[in-house]
Amino acid sequence: MKKLEVGILGATGMVGQRFISLLEHHPWFEVKWLAASERSAGKNYGEACNWRVRDPMPKAAAELPVNECKPGKAPQLVFSSLDSKVAGEVEKEFAQAGHVVVSNSSNHRMDADVPLLIPEVNPDHLALARLQRVERKWKGMIVTNPNCTAVGLVMSLAPLERAFGLEKVMMTSMQAVSGAGYPGLPTLDIIGNVIPFIGGEEEKVERETRKLLGRLKDGRVELGNFVVSAHCNRVLVEDGHTESISVALRSAAKVEDLIDAWRKWHARPQELHLPSAPKHPIIVREERDRPQVKFDVGSENGMATVVGRVRPCPVLQFKYTALSHNTVRGAAGAALLNAELMKAEGYLD
Ligand code: NAP
Repeated sequence: MKKLEVGILGATGMVGQRFISLLEHHPWFEVKWLAASERSAGKNYGEACNWRVRDPMPKAAAELPVNECKPGKAPQLVFSSLDSKVAGEVEKEFAQAGHVVVSNSSNHRMDADVPLLIPEVNPDHLALARLQRVERKWKGMIVTNPNCTAVGLVMSLAPLERAFGLEKVMMTSMQAVSGAGYPGLPTLDIIGNVIPFIGGEEEKVERETRKLLGRLKDGRVELGNFVVSAHCNRVLVEDGHTESISVALRSAAKVEDLIDAWRKWHARPQELHLPSAPKHPIIVREERDRPQVKFDVGSENGMATVVGRVRPCPVLQFKYTALSHNTVRGAAGAALLNAELMKAEGYLD
């Protein structure tokens, strides 16, 4: 199969670098075009980028020129990991010009006609993209993936919501520093510290969770009928968001039933054998002290959500811990899986 050429907006950032790394040997897509800010445009990627991924920078990427974020010469499919200060307008310009924009940024996630997707959870919401084209009268489209904290939460909630219904969710996060982009927080702010504030994060998690678990009806998403309360904290971990979650379900269940629902979770990317799909989207750890970032963040190449410590909760009904890789499953890997689903479902023909 001839590979589809792809571009990356914001290629020099933390998430952009993950895209470059994950796409290096991709069987369907090949990186041919890169763009970033005026600071980087005009340089080769190798020169412009302060590479922070452990695997070496792919040679082919190092030699590509970095462009300004202007549509025209970019391939039809572009991934976006632009700073949210500029992503809103730039992504719109690209979609208007006929590009399919698969974005990580928060700007368009809650637009009524923009799919906010986790392919294991709500692949049917992709249908919004066709309506978007018609309603906005543009040839391209924008498809988004959720906030990096919402992904692990929703991956773990979806099997419970489908099996038992959801009434209430409380989530307290311990979020990695890579989630703040590069160079991120000053050392003196985070070393030996926990910061109980991440601007806008709690609101994003609360609203995105209800859209992701909502039902598509008459061309719109009806938000999930449950309440979510999020507490978000920054901790001195490099990659991997850990979440302490409590839930109240709508029908009776036992701890074993929750474990069973997670283990039996059967989803579209696995059925379609998408190249980036984890074999087991949810991994249940039985040890009393797992998941831990140190051991579990790389599970299934960073694409699985790892859960454990499920037990009764005296306030709601059950509580457990979930872990998800924020720059892989929470960002570049999520967008890549979205694009693979789109290719498999005929959205890139
Ligand atoms: P980052 O490391 O700060 O990278 C930002 C990128 O945007 C860089 O390529 C930068 O180019 C480019 N950029 C900045 N200002 C620009 C401008 N005026 N015009 C054009 N390009 C500009 O941020 P990140 O962590 O990769 O995050 C990227 C996006 O993904 C953000 O919207 C973020 O909220 C979202 N996200 C991040 C994570 C995560 O875990 N990090 C997870 C989910 C979603 P230069 O290098 O040339 O400045």
